[in-house]
Amino acid sequence: MTTQRLRIMEYLRRTRTHPTAEQVHRAISAELPTITLATVYRNLNKLTEGGSIIRLKVGNTYHYDGKEGDHIHGICSATGDIVDIDQPELVRYVKRRLKHPGFTPQDIRIIVTGTCDKR
Ligand SMILES: [Zn+2]
Repeated sequence: MTTQRLRIMEYLRRTRTHPTAEQVHRAISAELPTITLATVYRNLNKLTEGGSIIRLKVGNTYHYDGKEGDHIHGICSATGDIVDIDQPELVRYVKRRLKHPGFTPQDIRIIVTGTCDKR
């Protein structure tokens, strides 16, 4: 893994804000002043394809998440904020119980819309 990719992944592991590519670029520029937005996009795509991070689409915008472990995403329909709902046992329950004839689930993401306290 390149230094740039590693730095982006480390940043996403420690932030809980589910940033956009532009926000990742702004944050990572403090450590890597020469990195371009295009490079950030390319590395975010590679990390997403490799399964190291996940990409969430809210409206027309992609957000990136480096949090490890099963969690549910709550998206506020008023502010667009994304919160991590740490109920791994609920995700594991769905993974265990989900069955549909002729369909094999591979990856389960639970996204719940609602309203946050800031609305
Ligand atoms: Zn998350």
